Amino acid sequence: MILVSACLLGVPCRHDGGSCPEPTLQELAAKGKALPCCPEVLGGLALPHPPAEIVGGDGEDVLQGRARVLNASGQDVTQEFLQGAHGALRLVRYWGIRRAILKSHSPSCATCRIYDGTFSGRLRKGQGVTAALLRREGLELCSEEDWKSERQGGCPG
Ligand code: SF4
Repeated sequence: MILVSACLLGVPCRHDGGSCPEPTLQELAAKGKALPCCPEVLGGLALPHPPAEIVGGDGEDVLQGRARVLNASGQDVTQEFLQGAHGALRLVRYWGIRRAILKSHSPSCATCRIYDGTFSGRLRKGQGVTAALLRREGLELCSEEDWKSERQGGCPG
């Protein structure tokens, strides 16, 4: 079983109430091999909700209390993001999951690049809060972009 960001499976859980379905991952789910997970929903954020970005670091910094997650209205939603990350951790422990395919660029799910905290659309190196916690747990993480590249014979990243 692989943990997959729920929005990649077509679940309308993005902050704007949309999704970003990846057909090859939806095939995996149809075969019963993918467990959908949306940390932001697990964290109790209502839908829709304002977009959020990590300010002052990345997901690992948030776990260590050195950075915060703020939404575009300036509200601190760090606790919701931490609660969502720990919800995802409970799921992977319960199911014995060792691999996750996570949505790129998300302040929760990103595996290698996140928005820079200025809400200007710029990206920088870093991972989301849930990705950081699952990586600490020793899971193999990749983005949906890595997944597609892997299927086409490229490097899984
Ligand atoms: Fe939920 Fe992660 Fe998708 Fe954001 S990227 S909607 S937190 S599953």
